Amino acid sequence: MNLSDSVQYLKGVGPKKAERLKRLNIKTISDILFYFPRSYEDRKSIKKIRNCENREKVTLSVQISGSAVTLRPKKGITITKIPVKDETGLAYLVYFNQSYISNNLKIGDKIKVNGKVNISYGQIQIQNPIYTKGNDKSKVGSIVPIYSLTNKISNNEMIKIVKYSLNNYLDQVEEIFPLTMREKLNLISIDEAFKNVHFPIDRDAYKSAKYRLVFEEFLILQLGLLLIKSKLQNNKLGIKFNIQDRSKEFINTLPFKLTSAQLKVFKEIQKDMESTKVMNRLVQGDVGSGKTIIAILAMLKSTVSGYQSVMMAPTEILATQHYDEINKLLEFFGIRCELLVGSLSSKEKLRILQESKQGNIDILVGTHALIEDGVEFKRLGLAITDEQHRFGVRQRAKLSDKGIAPDVLVMTATPIPRTLAMILYGDLDISIIGELPPGRKKIDTYAVNSGAKARVFEFVKKQIEEGRQAYIVCPLVEESESLDLESATEIYEEINEVYKNNYKIGLLHGKMKSSEKEDIMNRFKYGELDILVSTTVIEVGVNVPNANIMVIMNAERFGLAQLHQLRGRVGRGEYKSFCILINECNNKIARERMRIMERTTNGFVISEKDLELRGPGEFFGTRQHGLPDLKIANIFTDIKILKMAQKVAENLLHEDSTLNLPKNIRIRNRVDKLINEKLKNISIN
Ligand code: ADP
Ligand code: MG
Repeated sequence: MNLSDSVQYLKGVGPKKAERLKRLNIKTISDILFYFPRSYEDRKSIKKIRNCENREKVTLSVQISGSAVTLRPKKGITITKIPVKDETGLAYLVYFNQSYISNNLKIGDKIKVNGKVNISYGQIQIQNPIYTKGNDKSKVGSIVPIYSLTNKISNNEMIKIVKYSLNNYLDQVEEIFPLTMREKLNLISIDEAFKNVHFPIDRDAYKSAKYRLVFEEFLILQLGLLLIKSKLQNNKLGIKFNIQDRSKEFINTLPFKLTSAQLKVFKEIQKDMESTKVMNRLVQGDVGSGKTIIAILAMLKSTVSGYQSVMMAPTEILATQHYDEINKLLEFFGIRCELLVGSLSSKEKLRILQESKQGNIDILVGTHALIEDGVEFKRLGLAITDEQHRFGVRQRAKLSDKGIAPDVLVMTATPIPRTLAMILYGDLDISIIGELPPGRKKIDTYAVNSGAKARVFEFVKKQIEEGRQAYIVCPLVEESESLDLESATEIYEEINEVYKNNYKIGLLHGKMKSSEKEDIMNRFKYGELDILVSTTVIEVGVNVPNANIMVIMNAERFGLAQLHQLRGRVGRGEYKSFCILINECNNKIARERMRIMERTTNGFVISEKDLELRGPGEFFGTRQHGLPDLKIANIFTDIKILKMAQKVAENLLHEDSTLNLPKNIRIRNRVDKLINEKLKNISIN
């Protein structure tokens, strides 16, 4: 048998237990080995009777010092007391309804016991202790792993299964690290690691075991990410853009002063662009921090240097908005910008494709339509992806593949916590716009439960009466079986009911054609609609300064970073703005998350907290899931090992960029496996 065989065939398992193990996601023998203990109970360190404290769990090494006495205080209840001693004192083992135990324990027997201390009238009692005689250490005398289990499988059963698997299959687990590497990095062998993570001999052995396994997991992950990225980049020689870029002139035409954060980030971009290295830069900046201007500055530089630029946005609405702004701001510079989106007529599309290929278009803005095969450039110098978190690695790569080693700029408002950024953006340079333009008003945020809906709608009404507009956001369009989310349509009807046709209400959702979406968005933008009921499609980029209220239904379903982005849709004009989170979930974490939204406006703090509260899996949600589940490593508590693994990964690739040297081949195979199984659909990068 081998590691990928079903647990069912393990000694002592069988179909029934296999079914129960399946519920723990354990299907194969390998899964058993990777089912690491949740915690450990130290039944090894021996205490002296004299030092026992009330209520603590102890292990004693004792000798039976007298005969067992069984009492029957009530019908059906027995209490058996067995006196024991060590060189420091006397104690009693006390068993309830297990009088048969006295048959196994005879005066003079030397045993180890483990149980909870109860000190009663000065008498030290150990309650229902487990014990072992002689040298058997399976129950007492060792550090015992505690597994997370369902009630159908006991910890002891699990211990037996794991032990059996270790004894019979451990030799099949591959050691992927060469000995020299292990010696250099102080890593114990994989066999030792597995043995000691399940059944540690002592604390140090456990630490070394855990270190080895965590390191391996991080290293493989990091190598996988780096290999994907280097495949995307290929270390080509990049373009050297002109130092003279007319940026000063452009900045002077702006109706506002750039923030010092914007200036700093643009300097970083200039430096990259002027060097021969291919720029791979991520610009992170909170909603409204002014990323578009930065993109425009970079595109101006590219144009002035004689290159074309392309900028991809996730929605047509956003692409159009960028297109308008670029035209407005760059017209004076005689720059030609065109828009390529799915809804264009085929004739118009053809014209744009031709002109782009001929090099007549300086800047091409658009949606996913940009990465289709027919789109070509004559001299693409700069590829920008806006709202990067909405795109996958492959899409970004496709965009830059339209040119020969163009510089790449990706922009996101999702503030990825530093710890994760280290994994996800391993090789990207990061620029942070850590400051909002002055004069932005704070958005008052309130979390309420659904009982307060009527009051919320009343409040919305008041604002509309004053001439403002409101967003009402609901998570999903269609009722899904598993989630009782109110659908956009339902809420739309509810709102219509509430306001009895007094206001104009629009509905926007992802299932609409983009022309329909466009139409609704424009009507909202130009004030023809008072209320926009919408799914999260409005999340990115939309700019309607007159809208000052954002109501979010089922707010608990959203990631905090997403809530933060949604909230960023308001507070864009001169009016006091509000964000109302309707929280339908009463659990502690949900309430805590809502409180963070009420108190914090800093996107980085918010995402850091969210990650902490929900863990990486949920943090990214299913749509944006980027990270494979980690089996033993933890990006919070194991940050030091992560850093080490990142350094080693870099060194390894530096020395052997494809990991094809014989000594690295096993590492390479493991990485390939991870890429094929787990990283294929990674969408954050
Ligand atoms: P985001 O970073 O969310 O993409 P935008 O680039 O859309 O933000 O900018 C939001 C708004 O702020 C736009 O209307 C833009 O013109 C304006 N803006 C950008 N930079 C500044 C600045 N330094 N001072 C004032 N307003 C600015
Ligand atoms: Mg933007």
